[in-house]
Amino acid sequence: MKAAVFREIGKPLSIEDVQLPRLESDKEVLLKVKATGVCHGDLHVIMGDWQYEVPVNTPIILGHEIIGEVVEGGTKFQKGDLVMVYNAFGCKECKHCKAGYYQFCERVKVLGVHLNGGFAEYVKVPDEDFLMRVEGNPIQLAPLADAGVTAYSATRGIKEGDKVLVVGTGAVALLAIQILKSLKAEVSVVSRNPTRLAKAEELGADHVYYRKKTFPSLYTSIVGKKFDYIIDFVGSDETLDEVAWLLDRRGELRIVGEFGGQLSIPEQLLVLRGLKVQGILYGTMDDMKGVINLYNSGKLKTLAVPYYLDEINDALNDLMQERILGRAVIIPS
Ligand SMILES: [Zn+2]
Ligand SMILES: [Zn+2]
Repeated sequence: MKAAVFREIGKPLSIEDVQLPRLESDKEVLLKVKATGVCHGDLHVIMGDWQYEVPVNTPIILGHEIIGEVVEGGTKFQKGDLVMVYNAFGCKECKHCKAGYYQFCERVKVLGVHLNGGFAEYVKVPDEDFLMRVEGNPIQLAPLADAGVTAYSATRGIKEGDKVLVVGTGAVALLAIQILKSLKAEVSVVSRNPTRLAKAEELGADHVYYRKKTFPSLYTSIVGKKFDYIIDFVGSDETLDEVAWLLDRRGELRIVGEFGGQLSIPEQLLVLRGLKVQGILYGTMDDMKGVINLYNSGKLKTLAVPYYLDEINDALNDLMQERILGRAVIIPS
């Protein structure tokens, strides 16, 4: 089968003919890949940003946001079923797995990070219990599998009337804005990309703040406003700098993006305002069900931008150069 193989840090993925995966247990399922989204996580792996935290053994097929069609294996699905991969294969035994937070399992396996992923014609899924049946266009569905689940998980507990600041306008942020509007929150968005801010407005954002690159702080234009929640979809030094000052009393900062910034909050600010800080990594299977339901109700545009597998390095470049308005999705054939 054809696959995009990651061989060396900093190098383009190599399009190769590799062996079709072979099933070895009853739980395993072989999927014919219909669409796989391209995530910033793929770029982090390729650039070697995560080599200490999340070591990736090469060669490996990347791609962790996967929609496929069941070809063989397992007992719960029929041949031809369209499925979304919940891509955090936990041990099912530890306290995190038992609570449903498979993504925090110390033995978690992720396709496209620890095991071969979806930038290929076929992918082997280790456990059918982590598959969810879906209906619709696989290209449009793919961004839900990671970006959508993450956005849904990042907006948990937010309710009507809450003032929320969304930092960033990447694929996950643009999904979160729509989810927040479905919850009737008051949504503000800050970004240094005017085209994407216009998109955020089109998707329902109530207030948008454009930050010129020459401004000293990302938040200069928002001084004086207070938010119940700030969700940072970037996580860089720039987006974390001084951010806590914009939180209202009992406000909560949720950090989703993984650009490796350093967060520093004056301790007295934290205590006197009763602030909370939470990291958001992916989501639960319930989050996946929630985001699929919302998509099925027609309230979510996933903004998929399709590329063929042969064009995957173009997709990665376009993502790096911020040329994609939404989510790049790879179609293997
Ligand atoms: Zn991802
Ligand atoms: Zn576990």
